[in-house]
Amino acid sequence: MTKDVYDFDLFVIGAGSGGVRAARMAAQRGVRVCVAEAAALGGTCVNVGCIPKKLYSYAAHYADAFEEARGFGWVTGAPVLDWERLKARRAAEVLRLNGVYQGLLEGAGVTIVQGWASLLDEHAVQVQTQGGRRTFTAHHILLATGGTPSVPDIPGSEYAVSSDAMFDLARFPKRLVVVGGGYIACEFASIFNGLGARVTQLCRGPQLLRGFDDEIREFIAQEMSKAGINVRRDTQLSSISSTTDGLELTLADGGRLRADTVLFATGRVPNVTGLGLEALGVARGRDGAILVDEGYRSSLHSVYALGDVTARVQLTPVALGEAMVLVDRLFGPAQRFMSYDYIPTAVFTHPNIGTVGFGEAQAREKFGRVTVYRNSFKPLKHTLSDSTERAMVKLVVDTASDRVVGLHMVGPDAGEIVQGFAVAMKAGATKATFDSTVGIHPTLAEEFVTLR
Ligand code: FAD
Ligand code: NDP
Repeated sequence: MTKDVYDFDLFVIGAGSGGVRAARMAAQRGVRVCVAEAAALGGTCVNVGCIPKKLYSYAAHYADAFEEARGFGWVTGAPVLDWERLKARRAAEVLRLNGVYQGLLEGAGVTIVQGWASLLDEHAVQVQTQGGRRTFTAHHILLATGGTPSVPDIPGSEYAVSSDAMFDLARFPKRLVVVGGGYIACEFASIFNGLGARVTQLCRGPQLLRGFDDEIREFIAQEMSKAGINVRRDTQLSSISSTTDGLELTLADGGRLRADTVLFATGRVPNVTGLGLEALGVARGRDGAILVDEGYRSSLHSVYALGDVTARVQLTPVALGEAMVLVDRLFGPAQRFMSYDYIPTAVFTHPNIGTVGFGEAQAREKFGRVTVYRNSFKPLKHTLSDSTERAMVKLVVDTASDRVVGLHMVGPDAGEIVQGFAVAMKAGATKATFDSTVGIHPTLAEEFVTLR
């Protein structure tokens, strides 16, 4: 059978970060591509993830800006948040982006089918559209179905919401309890604290943000607490019940809390339900994640998967990178692989965290002897703003090779700053290279080249 007997060369299930990029890049190479999407184009990142989250993070930063402006001589009144207006403006921007994605796909010649898709066999897909079931065949099938929030099964968990619902809460929560200590929990705690909610964050472990450098974890926990978030470590939620005064939470230690909204930010699991994987025997791992080889091929020869549904590194730029590697491998020109080393990441807490490479403890485990350089200080801006917020920079250097193997920061625009340093780290920059680099003064970023 040649590929021309199929309706399409590539059928993509899921028009999120990875699916849209793969569909568009493949179509630009002249192959016939169809993408099926059950919800809105753009997936998690555009609709309920990175973009609306960052917009709300900007909104929350204004609270500090109004406060700090006084130290610079501005006379301002008491600012008031119009939650309805913020929601409406975010929704309009997301809708605009949905249109941009549609334009990009159609412009590249991709056929878009709206509906829930599942595998019929290794070359056939069924899509449940509004007009009924449709069947398509394809030479290659890509599963880019992303992930979905995972919610603990405790009494009253139906009263809690996931991050998906937080953007459009009918009423702004005066009292918010955030359960979790990961990316989403820390970001939403910071955002809603900034917007004016009284936030309590329940972290079941001894510290926030498992996997990050330990000093950075401690530093951000202190900064978040200083900003007004009640960060409670080693605290587990047992149940939620509804009362006339909002929700009542019972903790494992017997404590009680009241809240208007409870957010479960307790991780995400791959979106695999109803895809028809069991019947075809597609090999899967923890939480149902689709297992793939380094070329994103699943245990079925013609079926590929990438992005969050493979539950490896759940970040938009990773899904985009994987999509581009896959398209190159399937349709040319290159048989290349994605490198997962030194992937930079930011947590949009207030202040932000930016990080690339190994934490100190992880580096010691990997390299043996490491040299650590750090500084924590009051940023210049806050000498007049009267804010007590502090910043921290940290370098972890492999002593034997002098290579900088970890770079970490807590401070304003940490993501923007660390992105640039990630290029140097990827290129193998040594501490000597950092030392011989001239700083840009006065900036926060120059601290990285002046650490001695
Ligand atoms: P998705 O973008 O989730 O796309 C999957 C798509 O498949 C969805 O549109 C879904 O509707 C569709 N779909 C699923 N099943 C089917 C089916 N059977 N048929 C048809 N369609 C289907 N990452 C960052 O890098 N930076 C950030 O700041 C950031 N912030 C985030 C904030 C939040 C609150 C969340 C939840 C995530 C955030 N992420 C962030 C992670 C990022 O959004 C994901 O890693 C990324 O979207 C994964 O892309 P994907 O293509 O794998 O899946
Ligand atoms: P994470 O895996 O980052 O964090 C999950 C948190 O929930 C952990 O603190 C975990 O604790 C805790 N947890 C898990 N189960 C329970 C439970 N039953 N009770 C109490 N706490 C629990 O997941 P997120 O949902 O925050 O985010 C998912 C992914 O999305 C991230 O890993 C990241 O890749 C991506 N993302 C990226 C962002 C960015 O780039 N800025 C922003 C938001 C999301 P423990 O550590 O003890 O297991």
